[in-house]
Amino acid sequence: MPHIEQLASHVADLIAAGEVVERPASVVKELVENAIDAGASAVVVEIQRGGMSLIRVTDNGCGIAPGELPTAFLRHATSKLRSAEDLGKIGTLGFRGEALAAISAVSRVDIVTRQKGAGCGAALHLEGGVPGQVGEAGAPEGTTIAVRDLFYNTPARLKFMRKDSAETAAVAGLMQHLALSHPDVSFKFIKDGTESLHTPGDGKLESAVYAALGRDFARGLVSVEGRGGDIAVSGFVTAPLLGRGSRSMQAFFVNGRFIKSQLLTAALEEGYRNQIMKGKFPGCVLSVTLPVTAVDVNVHPAKTQVKFAREREVFDAVYHTVLDCLDARGAPVAAPKPAERVVNPRQDFFRSMDAKTFREQGAKNAEKAAEKPPVRPAAPARPAWNTEWKSAAKVADSQTERSGYQAFRPLEKPAGTAFGKPPASVTERREAAPVRETPVKAEAPAEKETPVKPEVAKRPFVPAIPAEQQGLDLPGQTTIEPPKEAPWRIAGEVLHTYIICESEDGCVWLIDKHAAHERINFDRLKAAKTPPMRQTLLQPVAAELTKEDGALLLENLSLLEQFGFACEDFGDGAVLVREVPADIDAGDTVSTLEEFAENLRSGKSLEEKRENLLHTMACKAAIKGGWTSDLSELKVLVEKVQSGEVRYCPHGRPVAVKLTKYELEKMFKRA
Ligand code: ADP
Ligand code: MG
Repeated sequence: MPHIEQLASHVADLIAAGEVVERPASVVKELVENAIDAGASAVVVEIQRGGMSLIRVTDNGCGIAPGELPTAFLRHATSKLRSAEDLGKIGTLGFRGEALAAISAVSRVDIVTRQKGAGCGAALHLEGGVPGQVGEAGAPEGTTIAVRDLFYNTPARLKFMRKDSAETAAVAGLMQHLALSHPDVSFKFIKDGTESLHTPGDGKLESAVYAALGRDFARGLVSVEGRGGDIAVSGFVTAPLLGRGSRSMQAFFVNGRFIKSQLLTAALEEGYRNQIMKGKFPGCVLSVTLPVTAVDVNVHPAKTQVKFAREREVFDAVYHTVLDCLDARGAPVAAPKPAERVVNPRQDFFRSMDAKTFREQGAKNAEKAAEKPPVRPAAPARPAWNTEWKSAAKVADSQTERSGYQAFRPLEKPAGTAFGKPPASVTERREAAPVRETPVKAEAPAEKETPVKPEVAKRPFVPAIPAEQQGLDLPGQTTIEPPKEAPWRIAGEVLHTYIICESEDGCVWLIDKHAAHERINFDRLKAAKTPPMRQTLLQPVAAELTKEDGALLLENLSLLEQFGFACEDFGDGAVLVREVPADIDAGDTVSTLEEFAENLRSGKSLEEKRENLLHTMACKAAIKGGWTSDLSELKVLVEKVQSGEVRYCPHGRPVAVKLTKYELEKMFKRA
C-alpha cells in the first residue's frame, strides 16, 4: 500500500474548486451573490466567450477593507458566519467562505474595491489562487472582480466545457433568475459587448419579470399572494389557459434564493389541477419567504436546493395561495368543458379548400338556396398533413357504408354513431361541410361544374387534396387501407378521448386516441427518410422563450431545420419562426419549441436528443384527447391497434385496454 499523505494545499484547493466552480455560470452565480450580500443596489455582469475568457462583476456594495482583501480569498474565510449555531439561521446567500478561494484557484483574478466612505480603494491580482501584493487603487465605492482564463490550470476540466454559446446561455438563464429573485437590485448583463438584460431595480417584481422574461409572458400573469402561518407566498403565475409546453418557465425563490424544488413544483401544479390542459404546465415566478430557521440551505454544493423543516406546511401554503388566487380572479379558470371544446382544429383541413373553389361552391349553393354556405371562411389550402387521414378520407368517401364500421355488426344498432344520434358537433360539421363527390381539385377551372349528388350530402368531410396527389404516397408517409371486412366495430367514443370498440372474438377495447395517434406519428417520423412537409406561417411567430431556451434552440438551428422548423435569431433570446411542420398546429409553435429546448437539454447524445424531439413532434401532431374526432379518424386508429402494430405510446404508456367477455361477466357476477 502507498503511504497516506495530506495533499498540498494548492492541490486540495483545486479539488475543492471542482465542487463550487463547475462552469462559468457557477462563477457568475457566486460573484453576484456576494454583490447582493454586500448590499449592492446595482450589479453589472459582463462575459466574453461564454465567460471562459472573461467574467467581470461590478457592484456598488459595501466593499472590502484593504487589509482583509487577501483573507477573502482564503478557504473558509467569510464575514457571514461565526459559529456552528449560525449555520442554522443563514440569512445571506453565501456562507461557506469558499467561493472566492475556489474561483481564484482555477483562474486569474483581479479585484478592485473601495469601502463606503474610504478615501481610496485597494487592488489585488491572484494567479491560480496565489495572491500578489495589495496595492492602492482609485475606484468607485463597491467592488469589481474580473475572472480571466477560467480553468487555465485544470486542462481536464477545460476539456469538458461545452461550446461558448451553451455557456453564454447558461449564464443568461442564471441572470434571469438572479434578476427575478431581487427586484430591488438593478441588473445589467452584457455578453460579448452586447447588453442583453437590464432590470430597473425599482423593487417591483413585475418590472423584473417584464425585463427578464419578456412582454408576452408578463402579459398573461396572475398575481398571487398568500400566507400560511409564518410562510408567505407571493409572485405571479400564468393563467390556466396559457399553460406552457414545459416547466422551464417555473422559477421558485426561497428567501431570495433561486432554487429547484419538486415539492414547490408539485404544490404549484396541484393548484392547477383540472384547470390546465393535459400536457401543459403552469409558469410562475414564486417567492416563498419563511423564517431562516425553518429552512436548511446547506444541503447542496451549488446551494440550488433547500430542505424545509415543515414540508407539509410549505406545500399547503403554496397550493392554497395559488388555488385561491386563481379562483378569485373571477374569470373562467376552468378549462372549457369537453362539449364546448373547439373541434379538432385540424378538422379544418378536411373542410379546407382553395379560395377559388370556395367561391364556386358558394355561388352554387346560393343558387340552390337550399344549402347554407360554410360557416367558416375558407382556410388557405394546406398540404396534406398526413396521408393516413387522406386515405381515411377516401375510405369515408367510398367505404363508410360497407367496410369496418358496419360490416361486423352483431348489435342491432342504427348506423351513424353507437348512440343512434350523431353528436351535435358532427351534425354541425356535416352541415357546414361543402359537399361534393370528387375531392376538390385546386386548379379546377371556374366554369367546370362539380356535380353534387344529393345522396352524398351526408359525407362527413371533403379532403382538399389536389387530384394529382390522390393515391400518391407522400415521402415518409404510408397509406393504410382497412380491410373490407374488418373483424371489429367501433361502438363509439367517450369523454372525447377513448374509443370503445368491439372485436369479433368478443372482447371490448378501450383505446386512447391521442396515445395511439402519437405512436403512429412517432413510427412514421422515425421511419421517414426526408424531413417532414412544412407550412409557412402567414405571420412569423416571434417566440419569446427563456434566454437559456432561446440560445439552446438557436444553437441547434440545423437540427430544427431537419424537423421542419425554419427559425432564426430574433435578438435577445427570442426566436423567429417562419415555417413549422405541416402536421403541427401553428398555435402550438411556442409550446413545441419550449419542449424542444427541454428535449435538447435532457438528451445526452445527439441520438437521444433526436429521439426526444421525435417524441415531442409525434405528440404535437397527434389528435388530442378532448378534441372531437371524425369517425374515419377513429377507424384508422382502431385499425392500427387491432392489427397489433400499435401497442404502446412512445412514452411506454399503453394505448389500449382490452376486456374479455369473461372478464366482463365476472364483473357483473355472471361468471
Ligand atoms: P461567502 O460568500 O460564503 O462568505 P466568499 O468566498 O464568496 O464566501 O467571500 C468571502 C468574503 O469576501 C465574504 O464573506 C465577504 O465578506 C467578502 N466579499 C466577497 N465579495 C464581496 C463583494 N462583492 N463585496 C463585499 N464583500 C465581498
Ligand atoms: Mg460568497
